[in-house]
Order: sequence, then C-alpha cells, then structure tokens
Amino acid sequence: MRIVLLGAPGSGKGTQAQRLAERSGIPQISTGDLLRAAVAGGTELGLKAKAAMEEGRLVDDSLVLGMIRERLGQPDTRAGFILDGFPRNLVQAAALDGLLAELKQPLDAVVQLEVEPAELVQRISGRRCCADCGRVFNVLTSPPPTGAAAVCPSTGAPHRLVQRPDDNEATVAERLRVYAEKTRPLIAFYQSRGLLRVIDGQGELDAVTQRLARALAGAAAMPARRSGARAAARARPATRAAKSRTRGARAATRRPKAPRKKTPARTAAKGGRRSAPAAKRRAARRRGRR
Ligand code: ADP
Repeated sequence: MRIVLLGAPGSGKGTQAQRLAERSGIPQISTGDLLRAAVAGGTELGLKAKAAMEEGRLVDDSLVLGMIRERLGQPDTRAGFILDGFPRNLVQAAALDGLLAELKQPLDAVVQLEVEPAELVQRISGRRCCADCGRVFNVLTSPPPTGAAAVCPSTGAPHRLVQRPDDNEATVAERLRVYAEKTRPLIAFYQSRGLLRVIDGQGELDAVTQRLARALAGAAAMPARRSGARAAARARPATRAAKSRTRGARAATRRPKAPRKKTPARTAAKGGRRSAPAAKRRAARRRGRR
C-alpha cells in the first residue's frame, strides 16, 4: 500500500507509521527523520536544512523534493511506503502527484490524524526518541517498556532517550502555526481526489492503531474515485469525535453552489435591468388586461 499520514506535529504520525511499518513490512519514510539524519551527519543538505528546522519553519521544497525523489527510487518502496511528514504543503503534494504518476505508483490512501491542539502541546513536551533506533516514546503517556522489550534493536542496550531540539515551547508554537497555514489545506486537496480518511488520533495508542488499520482496510476495499462530489462523500470520519472536528474542514471544501438561473423576478429584486423580451411579454400582458 502507498499511504500518506497527515496530521499536526504531535498527532502521532511517526508513532503510528512505525507501528504500521513493523506490522506490514513496508517502509516508513519520514522527511523529518531524513532531515535530522542529514543535520547529524553534517551533509550539505543538513547544513541547508538546519536553521529552518530549529526555527520550526519548513525546509525548502527543492531540498525536500530531491530527498523524496531519491528515497522513492529505492527498491524497498516497490511494495509500498508510508509517507510521514511529507507532503507538507500544496507544492509538495502536487510534486508528489507528478512523481508517483511518473513511477506509475499512485497513492492508495491519505489518513489524517485529528488531535485537539491542547493535547498536541502536551504530547510534544513529553516526547523523547531513542538516539540509536529513532523509536518515539512519551515520558508522560507512553514511557519506554521495561524488561526485555526495553532493549534498543540497534544497540542491544537500553534505549537512549533524547529530546528533539525543536520540541521546545517557542518552536512548537511556530510548527503548529505553519501546520495550520501550509499543511491543513492538504485535507481539501486529498479529499477532492477521493483519497482522504480522517481518524480520531486521541486515546490509547492501540486504539488509534486499530482505527488506522480499519481506515486502510476501507481504502483498500474501495479504490479511489476521482469525482469531487463522490470523493467528499467517501471522506467519512471513522469516529464521532473526528466527525465533529472535520465538519469545519468539510464546510471549507464544500463546492460552491451553481449560480441560480436569473428570472425576471430575481433580477428585479436585485434592481437589475430586465431583458428586452421579458419586458415585451409583460407589456403585452398589461395590454391584454386592459
Ligand atoms: P513534526 O511533524 O513533529 O513537527 P517532523 O519530524 O516531521 O516533526 O519534522 C521536523 C522538522 O523538519 C519540521 O519542523 C520541518 O522544519 C522539517 N520538515 C520535515 N518534513 C518536511 C517537509 N516535508 N517539508 C519541509 N520541511 C520539513
């Protein structure tokens, strides 16, 4: 399956993508992880991306697109992929469309994880990652397991938990603002393509994983239709909570009604000029009444 996970910073895209990748064997492609690795490795790309990441801004589209093009060209993506953190604006989404059309590998589904803003902030402040395997934990809500499960698969030693430098209060506020401005419009973009599924990203981790699995099973059973109206009907939130949260997004994407036909009465009501044939008909009726 070829999937995009959409959601605000802290909505759980990374965690759910990791779980899905482990279960399905298809790779998780996180642009955030790729960029962090480039920064840590001091590569040219990393040097260019570093400042934007530290300030919570988006890294230049050209850098991210080059990185994605290269990654999607690797053979492990033939069986599918889970894009996490990409695309993040409309330019990236359009470029991804073009690239996947070229590769003849269209997307199967886009899943939006909906989480309340207050919870996003709380989640980000408790987030810690293993410096070696990259696994994400939350010291407030999902601490690393103890016992045998606590072992890092990369080192065989306990996980080394670190906090991301951009998980600080000021940067988080900017990341949330950038998300609302640049990334949220992708909901309408994918809704109009019949690919969007919305799930409630709150509650137990396992419950969210199950919702995601159900949304993907639904998407697999019903291939994407391209008509806008039908597509909007398909973007059904999986839960009542998600439904209420997506109502606004739906209203924003509703197609404008077709303009109503002008009738003489409506034109008159608006103080507009009447058409010549209609005026003639009315004059004839008046003459008939006399
Ligand atoms: P989160 O979604 O929790 O904010 P990520 O790990 O996905 O975190 O991204 C961290 C940072 O990396 C972003 O704030 C941004 O600076 C950069 N980044 C990640 N993906 C993209 C992208 N697709 N386009 C531009 N910048 C990106």
